[in-house]
Amino acid sequence: MNKPDIQPHPIPCRDCSAGMMHPRLITYFTWLGEELITVPNFPAWICDMCGKRDYDEKAISWLSMLLNPTAGNPTRKKLASAKPRSTPGHAHPSIDS
Ligand SMILES: [Zn+2]
Repeated sequence: MNKPDIQPHPIPCRDCSAGMMHPRLITYFTWLGEELITVPNFPAWICDMCGKRDYDEKAISWLSMLLNPTAGNPTRKKLASAKPRSTPGHAHPSIDS
């Protein structure tokens, strides 16, 4: 039984020009600020000769859009002035009498 999957053809490697780059699903790692983001099942092309890997361009742009906090979400956090403010004590307690 043939699966109806559309399989991209292997493309010749641009690096070693001897191997072929095969479509693979890998786990993509990227840093978002100080946070390590892992994306499982990320489409990439891996060379069977030199091991060069190219990530799928569309997937990359999709991912960068996804990870960009300003994309599609225009709400901007106010830069909260985080100065430690000493709460004014009751220096002058008004006594109602
Ligand atoms: Zn190669």
